Amino acid sequence: MKSWEERLNPVVRDIPPSGIRKFFDLAAEMKGVISLGVGEPDFVTPWRVREACIYSLEKGYTMYTSNQGLKELRDEIARYLNQAFQIRYDPSDEILITVGVSEALDLALRALLAPRDEVLIPEPTYVSYIPCTVLAGGVPVPLPTRMENNFRITAGQVEKAITPHSKVLLLAYPNNPTGAVLPRSELEDIAAVAKAHDLVVISDEIYAQLTYEGEHVSIARLPGMRDRTIVLQGFSKAFAMTGWRLGYAAGHNAFIGAMTKIHQYTMLCASITAQMAALEALRNGLKEMRQMVGQYNHRRRLVMNAFKEMNLPCSEPGGAFYAFPLIEDTGLSSEDFCERLLFEEKVAVVPGTAFGPSGKGFIRCSYAASVSNLVEALKRMTGFVKRVRLKKKVSRPIPVGQEAVPYKG
Ligand code: PLP
Repeated sequence: MKSWEERLNPVVRDIPPSGIRKFFDLAAEMKGVISLGVGEPDFVTPWRVREACIYSLEKGYTMYTSNQGLKELRDEIARYLNQAFQIRYDPSDEILITVGVSEALDLALRALLAPRDEVLIPEPTYVSYIPCTVLAGGVPVPLPTRMENNFRITAGQVEKAITPHSKVLLLAYPNNPTGAVLPRSELEDIAAVAKAHDLVVISDEIYAQLTYEGEHVSIARLPGMRDRTIVLQGFSKAFAMTGWRLGYAAGHNAFIGAMTKIHQYTMLCASITAQMAALEALRNGLKEMRQMVGQYNHRRRLVMNAFKEMNLPCSEPGGAFYAFPLIEDTGLSSEDFCERLLFEEKVAVVPGTAFGPSGKGFIRCSYAASVSNLVEALKRMTGFVKRVRLKKKVSRPIPVGQEAVPYKG
């Protein structure tokens, strides 16, 4: 009899589990841990949204919806995308409601990729992009970004990575894990490369509403980009609805049609209860959403000030709710830093290497935690960093890529 190792699809067998998981599991077993590890709002979904969901159940909304999702919700999404981001889609065949952005991402990749097609992925990268690309039969091509450039991908980097197999550029701005945003001028340069090389852009804009300075510009809004871009958006982050599992994709009807085919055979539809709640979120929940974004902005300042005081270099996160400081000068690797911080101070953060090799020397801290938890966690981290530095006798931040220099004073 064959072992399960032998029976499993080798592609699945060889995919490593998420690097974030290990720290969640460790932290979950310990008491008194403050977690800055998860990318999840600490807010409960606004009451009006929960109430709408309860009413929908009372009224008997318990059936399947159409594969594409409730027409009222697609109408509302189309209106919202137009008003908030000036991108226009026809709700009848250009919007698909999915089980989180996670499903939309998987559908987009599976609908597009044939074996050996390459997907260009800025790195550090959200943990799902590379595994989902591999599972869809594609070849991930990581494009390392650097703190010196605020973790922004450049048009030049994209152009340089183009091969005859390049098919997709997967953008995620505002970014998880770095908080990087892409201003319009840089998006325009990237769009020019995408057009010149006939790339499809999958634009994961799940953090679009969490943009703290200036406006979020969707690449789909730029001239000639709408029909080669698939925009992914959802309710998890901006509306504090992670557990509802609701997202959507918007794009050219031929592409949405292909995604809908896979969705129809694998998922049928997203939960009607979550869709009824999302309808309320878009119709009447924007004020609460903006209040939450204001809170994240306040916490962002708190975290950035604390890193400044700790003398940890950190690129200003323009969006999302993550900070990605460089901890290299403590003399600890990203993994050792996180493990020791967890065991010695009971604070959970994620090693930068969980997001790819270019995350080496960094950690990811989510500031979607309550202010009191943030303040306490940062106090503990400050003490830890001081202690580790003293022990290692390292006196000052070291530029990226250089070894720690022992203090000789
Ligand atoms: N895309 C990015 C960049 C994320 O950070 C996350 C979750 O952390 C997701 C997608 C998944 O979102 P959802 O909860 O809608 O599946």
